[in-house]
This record gives sequence, structure tokens and C-alpha cells, in this order.
Amino acid sequence: VVAVWRRVRSRRGWARAVAVLKEFEEGCATPVSRLRQVVDAMAVEMHAGLASDGGSKLRMLLTFVDALPNGNEKGTYYALHLGGANFRVLKVELGGTRSTIMKHHDEYQIIPQDLVASTIEGLFDFLAMTLKRLVEKDDEGSGQSDDTIKELGFTFPFPLKQLSISSGTLVKWTKEFAIEDANGKDVAQCLHEALIKSGLEMQVAALVNDTVGTLALGHYEDEDTVAAVIIGTGTNACYVERTDAIIKCQGLLTNSDEMVINMEWGNFWSSHLPRTPYDFDLDDESPNQYDQGFEKMISGMYLGDIVRRVLLRMSQQSDIFGESAHHLSTPFILSTPLMASMHEDSTPDLKVAERILLDELKLPNVSLKARRLVVRVCDVVTQRAARLAAAGIVGILKKIGRDGSGGVASGRVRGKPKRTVVAIEGALYVSYSSFREYLHEAVAEILGEEVAPNVVLRVTEDGSGVGAALLAASHSLQR
Ligand code: BGC
Repeated sequence: VVAVWRRVRSRRGWARAVAVLKEFEEGCATPVSRLRQVVDAMAVEMHAGLASDGGSKLRMLLTFVDALPNGNEKGTYYALHLGGANFRVLKVELGGTRSTIMKHHDEYQIIPQDLVASTIEGLFDFLAMTLKRLVEKDDEGSGQSDDTIKELGFTFPFPLKQLSISSGTLVKWTKEFAIEDANGKDVAQCLHEALIKSGLEMQVAALVNDTVGTLALGHYEDEDTVAAVIIGTGTNACYVERTDAIIKCQGLLTNSDEMVINMEWGNFWSSHLPRTPYDFDLDDESPNQYDQGFEKMISGMYLGDIVRRVLLRMSQQSDIFGESAHHLSTPFILSTPLMASMHEDSTPDLKVAERILLDELKLPNVSLKARRLVVRVCDVVTQRAARLAAAGIVGILKKIGRDGSGGVASGRVRGKPKRTVVAIEGALYVSYSSFREYLHEAVAEILGEEVAPNVVLRVTEDGSGVGAALLAASHSLQR
């Protein structure tokens, strides 16, 4: 009797776990009709964000980058790329023609955990001292040390309100940073002060968002590049806008016809986004509630945790994960790279997924059937993220008239659609092939057969580093 009862209970439990999946799938659905609504909403919000500060959740920040590198850049420049818990220093030698970029250093330096949440002075003193050590080591190694002041492109991958190419105050931290006294401070000035303290003679010639560095390198390599997207720990996009379309600054930007706009699309929001109770919970429990809504559905910081939340719900409704399922209530216990490995597990019995469930989530003996369910959840989360990112990209193309909807006036050369390149970086896109495939598929679906072949998504290698150095060169203070 007990055995029969157990079987009945486990069958019912299984059905409940499948029901959780079904409901989640429905909540995440992104048919092309819905994606088109997201495209339109993105374009509308872009207009609103350009019309006035605070006009939209899309901040549409000015970057003061009014010319992208063209290949004539020459000289030696440095780049400092602040990442998540790490940063990089690069020395870039530019030979004046497109083919001669030389890169030195490039190792990631770990930022001690206590500094990620300390004071801006503490963090920047550490950056400046490490920079000095690397530059001196390099000068000694090469036997050359000159007295000219060195110039730096500083890649700062957070929203900045810029007043010039080389200054900008922090609007808000996103992702994992939380140094409170930094809000409202000019981060280039803070770095400048730290550099003086360290005794290193170096000036910040360009302060840039990581998307802007990516666009700079993308454009350097291919002049048809008009926008850049990053899909990594965080997500964001920037693009080249006509200055007369930047209504909030009309009359102030008279020196050039175009400017790169840092959209901060991670903060995009629209009622058309397919949001589930798991997304609501994730937002409620996040330190930046109501912010970065798009980022929370797309980027590497969150995807693993959305999967975890669905698995937790399944474990509350059934016993498919056994007695240790309480481990699933630990926030962020499942990272996105591990989620991707389970999703792309091609072993016949899902052995990789089995190992990850055991080692990371402490779930022993998860049956093959249950592992298949886990992989399915990973698939739903990844597909939704990639398709929404695709809609975001087409939204930008729509705003600048490159989505094929504007007819001959926009996006067409003598009746033919113009070639349009979007530079992309970030581990989710570059290293996660299922994500990339879903994204490509959705872009093609939305744009249709005629336009899609003219839109090229192109990976740039290290725009966040080399691109910043290129912008330091094209905006050199010593020109
Ligand atoms: C930041 C952006 C950044 C993006 C990618 C987001 O969280 O707000 O400024 O470009 O992450 O790194």
C-alpha cells in the first residue's frame, strides 16, 4: 500500500512540476508580434529620453563623442577598464593605419572584495597604484621612459552624466558595485586626484562607457558600424544620433552633426515585456528595485537566478529534486555560466547537468527526467533573453531608420537597404552559442527576408579596452 501511495504521490508531484514549467513557458512567450511591440516601445522611449531628462526610463545619455576613430590615430595610449570585481590596464600603440594596433598587458587584476563596497577614494587609489606599477614595469622592460604626459581612456561601465568627453558624474551604480559616496561625483576627477597622489603622470583624455568603446573599435574596423551592444554581466547599447534629434540639448551641441548616445538600455521598461512572478520576486529582492528591468531579464548577472527561482518553485510543488532542495533557496547559487553549461549539455544522459546539480546546487540523484526539465527551464530563460535583446537592437535600427520600415528616405541607398553593422561584445553573446543563435533568429524574424541580410551583427574583440584607447587618441589633449 505504501509503495502504491508513493507512486501516486510522485506522479502527482511530477505533474505539478510540469505545470510550473508550462505556466513559466507561457509567461515568457515572445512571438514575433510581441517582439514588434517591444521594438516600437524601444523606439518610442528613445524619442522620449532624447526629448527631456527624465522623459523616459531610458536615460539616453550624452557622451560628447562626436567623431569616431577613423584609422589615422597615432601614438601610445593607455586604457583602464573597470569590470566587475576586476579591472584591466592596456597599453595600445597606434600606428596611424588601421592594421597596426599593438596591445600590451591585458591581464585582469582582481579588486579586493572590501574595496568594491568601500569609498571611491579607496577604490581609485588602488586603481592608480596598480596602474603606476604596471606602467613602470613596462617602461623598465622596454628600456624607454619618456617625459611626455601619458594619456588614458577610462572605461567606466555605469551610467554617467557627462559634460565633456573627459568628465562625468556617476548617476547610479548598476550590477554589483555599491560605493555610496561615489554617487554624483566626477569619476574622471576622482581618478585624476588618485593619479596625482600616486605620482604617475597620466591624464584622462576620454571617459567612456564600455558600449562606446565597443562602438569606437567597431567603427574603426568597419565604417558601417552605427551602434554597439554589450550583453555580459550587464547589458547596454549606444548608437550614433543626429544632434538635431537630441531635443533636450538643442542649441547647445552646435559643433557637430552627430553624437554617440549611451542609451543605458538596461533600464528600459515597457508593459509589453513578458514578465513572470519570478521576475517580480527577483526585482523585489534586488538592491535596485524598479530599476534595470530590461537588464534583469537579459543579462548574465540574473539569468541563472531566474532559473533557480523556477526550480525552487518546482521543488515546493513536487519532490522531483529530493530532500536537499532547500539549497535552491540560496540567492545566486546558480551562476549564468553554469546555467549555460547545463543548457548546452550534449552528453546523452545529461551528465554535465547532473554534476552541476550535485556540485553547485547540492542536489544528489536528480533523475534524468528531472534533469531534462531543468534544461528546458534554462532554454526558456535563455530564449526569452536573447529574443528581447534582438527586439532592442531592432528598436535602435527603427529609431535611426535602418529597419527597412522607413522606405527610400531612410535606410536605403537608391532603393536598396543600406548595410548596417552593430558591434557586439559580452560573454553571453560571444561564448553562449544558444543565446547567440536565438538572438540571430529573432532579428531575422522581426526584420524579414529583405532587410535582415543587410544588418550585420559583428563581434569586436576588446572594444572596452582598445576602443577606449582609440577614443583617448582621437580626443587627445595634446593634439
Ligand atoms: C551599465 C552600463 C553598462 C552595461 C554593460 C550596465 O549595468 O549600467 O553602463 O554599459 O552594464 O557593462
